[in-house]
Order: sequence, then structure tokens, then C-alpha cells
Amino acid sequence: MWQSGSEGVTCIACGEELPRSQAREYDKHGDRWERRDKEFEFLCKPCYRECCHQPRDGLEETLVRADAGDADRETFLAQYHDIAGGEGPERER
Ligand SMILES: [Zn+2]
Repeated sequence: MWQSGSEGVTCIACGEELPRSQAREYDKHGDRWERRDKEFEFLCKPCYRECCHQPRDGLEETLVRADAGDADRETFLAQYHDIAGGEGPERER
């Protein structure tokens, strides 16, 4: 997918893959400084702007209902898409 050496992450809002260096960390709890035992979610820049600088009805609630941060990524994405009413994540296997 990416050139070797660059880590790819997936935007939790739109499912877009992007290099981690281009992504914005998103923590639903709002404490970006407690990094132990914790995996951040990532947003692409457009979604980050929408999430964090404009009200977006239901997104936060949807993320929480989808167990953002608690479920593993695949489960979370599946739940998120389910709740959001979109298609399920593409399976690569
Ligand atoms: Zn996005």
C-alpha cells in the first residue's frame, strides 16, 4: 500500500487510508497526553476539521456507541459502519 517505511493509518470517519504523518490523532476522551496502553484513532484532515471545529450531529455519539478505542480496529470499523448505516469495511482476505 504505502512505500516501505511509511506507516499507514485509517481515518475512522470516512475509512480513507493515509500516511500516519498526514493523519490527525483523535482521542474520544480528549486526553491526548496519556499514551500508555492506548491506541489512538486517526482522522484525515478534512474529517478532523469537521469533527473538531464544526458541530456534527451524532458523530461523537456514533463513535462512542461503536466502542471507539475499546474494540479492535476491525470490529470498531464494522460497528461504526453498521451504526452509521454505511457499507461494511472492505475485507482484504
Ligand atoms: Zn476521513
